Amino acid sequence: MKSSQIFTSVISTLAGIAITSLVVYLIPNGWGSIFWFFGAFFGWFARTTPIWNWLLVLLVGTMLVVLFGAVLVLREYLRSKRDEVEEPTPLTIYGVNWMWNYSSSLYATEPASFCPECDMQIRSYNVSQYAASYQSRFHCDCCGWSSKTIEASEDAIHDYVKRRFQQELRRAYREHDERKQDAA
Ligand SMILES: [Zn+2]
Repeated sequence: MKSSQIFTSVISTLAGIAITSLVVYLIPNGWGSIFWFFGAFFGWFARTTPIWNWLLVLLVGTMLVVLFGAVLVLREYLRSKRDEVEEPTPLTIYGVNWMWNYSSSLYATEPASFCPECDMQIRSYNVSQYAASYQSRFHCDCCGWSSKTIEASEDAIHDYVKRRFQQELRRAYREHDERKQDAA
């Protein structure tokens, strides 16, 4: 738990106590009348309700608690599983270094390309001589590095790189799961 989360829970607990105290203060006779009300309510419920309804209430209550607990445990498990996966290293494709971000999904964001010589972010441009063919090249405006000519449009290159990232990410999750199974 981060310190900011602890701070938030302490503040909300204090606020909860303050609001409850105010409400109790405003009710005539404070806690005394609250206890009296609940005591009277449960007394009335016990007198007027057959045993089967009590069991039903107990059963539904238990189920709700178990369900709530299961959801919490599952959420924590999924979060820890995502957190521990190693982030795949940058990929070199077409001689270009590609960086990318991903959230907890298996989908990469738009990849960014960097110069293999000086790490400057580089640009691609179309070198097709005929409209029917697709040829692209990457160029670094900082050190003058140029990639080879690639037989694909810029969109197709980006699409390919994204799919390679997703493949890498799936591999990282798979290896993580295998490590976890080995440890168990
Ligand atoms: Zn460069």
